[in-house]
Amino acid sequence: MRQALDADVIVVGGGISGLACAWNLQQRAIRVLLLESAAQPGGSIGTTREQGCLLESGPNSALDTTPLIAQLLDEVGVAGERISANTAARNRYILRDGRLTALPLSPLEFLGTSLFSARAKLRLACEPFIARGAPGGEESVAAFVRRRIGIEFLDYAINPFVAGVYAGDPEALSVSAAFPRLHALEQAHGSLIRGYVAGARARARDPEKSKQAAPMFAFRDGMQTLTDALARRLAQVELATEAVGVAPGRGCQSVTARSMNAQRELRARAVVLATPAHAAAKLVSAFSSDTGAALAAIQYPPVAVAISAYPREAVRHALDGFGVLVPQRERRSILGTIFSSTLFENRAPRGLALLTTFVGGMRQPELARLNDDEIAAIVQAEHVALLGAPARAQFVRVRHWERAIPQYTLGHAARMAAIETAERRFPGVFFCANYRGGVAIGDCIKSADRVAGEVAKFLRDQQGAKIPG
Ligand SMILES: Cc1cc2nc3c(=O)[nH]c(=O)nc-3n(C[C@H](O)[C@H](O)[C@H](O)COP(=O)(O)OP(=O)(O)OC[C@H]3O[C@@H](n4cnc5c(N)ncnc54)[C@H](O)[C@@H]3O)c2cc1C
Repeated sequence: MRQALDADVIVVGGGISGLACAWNLQQRAIRVLLLESAAQPGGSIGTTREQGCLLESGPNSALDTTPLIAQLLDEVGVAGERISANTAARNRYILRDGRLTALPLSPLEFLGTSLFSARAKLRLACEPFIARGAPGGEESVAAFVRRRIGIEFLDYAINPFVAGVYAGDPEALSVSAAFPRLHALEQAHGSLIRGYVAGARARARDPEKSKQAAPMFAFRDGMQTLTDALARRLAQVELATEAVGVAPGRGCQSVTARSMNAQRELRARAVVLATPAHAAAKLVSAFSSDTGAALAAIQYPPVAVAISAYPREAVRHALDGFGVLVPQRERRSILGTIFSSTLFENRAPRGLALLTTFVGGMRQPELARLNDDEIAAIVQAEHVALLGAPARAQFVRVRHWERAIPQYTLGHAARMAAIETAERRFPGVFFCANYRGGVAIGDCIKSADRVAGEVAKFLRDQQGAKIPG
């Protein structure tokens, strides 16, 4: 006799990856139950309001890299809530010798910029003549950049960029895992510049956009608009419910769920683990120690996010850009600051400047673990020094992420191969989260679409043609 199932699929984890995957499955008329251990959905995405300001403790924006984003926004009814970044946010500053210097936006600006020396510009011009790296060999982002475009670009372009995206360390990240497009460009064309020029037509036609070309967006009421809408539209979401065990089986996966003081066994044909890697590691170690070890090896550095408001006229810098990224060589105590009130309309009442500053990461994990007052003091001192802000902000709110963003470090490809092996060895168990396929919100939506497609196929294969594709 068949055991009663609680759903066709149980999705564990209600961040953007799990929510988008669950939604995609529900759209295919598959019965989904989503379990989320926190009291609210969204994972890293979280919006609050204070003194008329909109505070994002996780992502401030997303890049429209794939048509799947517009499709998802339409489906859940939030396309009309979407807002575009202000044109004033086009400038991006890099700190060099203690001063904010705009990143050049055109070849002409590049020639004139003081951000890079004449020697570094000449070195870049040599890039097409540098030999291609050995295929198959894994190289760090830092080694790749040093080899292809020189140390100054590593220090003043890639190092701050990596801090901005991964809160990461370019010496530790794997170029093929963290920046697969860059790696593929070299492999295909032997040069980034030649590859970029050769690919111009194909890029213009491709509906998928690179992160450099994709428009930036957010939502009028903050990034949580999307995750809230997804959670509202899913038929079965259980919040404050933690999966504490998973047992794979032939055609029936069991999940032990704990909420309040109660513990239950839930059953479904498939389970999607959409938690951070360390949480997935705990769940799978019981039935596959290799997979558990691969997941547990994915590092997540701590990051503290400090959101500060100052009277606008009291800040000397024009704040005419997206924000400033801080290279490690500058020896400061912050990774960077987003000029949030410039980036989007209505982030702060007129007359207030709202700044979102990131502290810690792989560079200075110890700083992210300081208490709120200590972090506020560090951030305010940096704002005084770098932006000409007054000594005290009107308010500072700090959010700690003990494990912020997964690092695609050397060995990541092998870890992902271990996960693929687990999906083959335990049919019906799937992995879908930001340690796989990219950390950006658009990447998570793309991965969710891919995994949902695989789950749907698995169910169809299992059940004949009962479930529509
Ligand atoms: C500070 C910060 C700033 C960022 N800025 C940007 C940005 O500007 N743009 C951008 O595109 N991306 C940004 N990112 C990255 C992006 O936000 C994340 O990669 C993405 O939101 C991760 O989604 P996820 O669903 O994979 O994981 P998560 O959001 O981590 O969700 C996983 C969920 O699983 C739940 N969970 C864990 N264990 C269990 C369990 N046992 N049972 C049930 N539930 C469980 C957790 O509570 C969580 O809700 C930022 C990330 C951070 C931390």
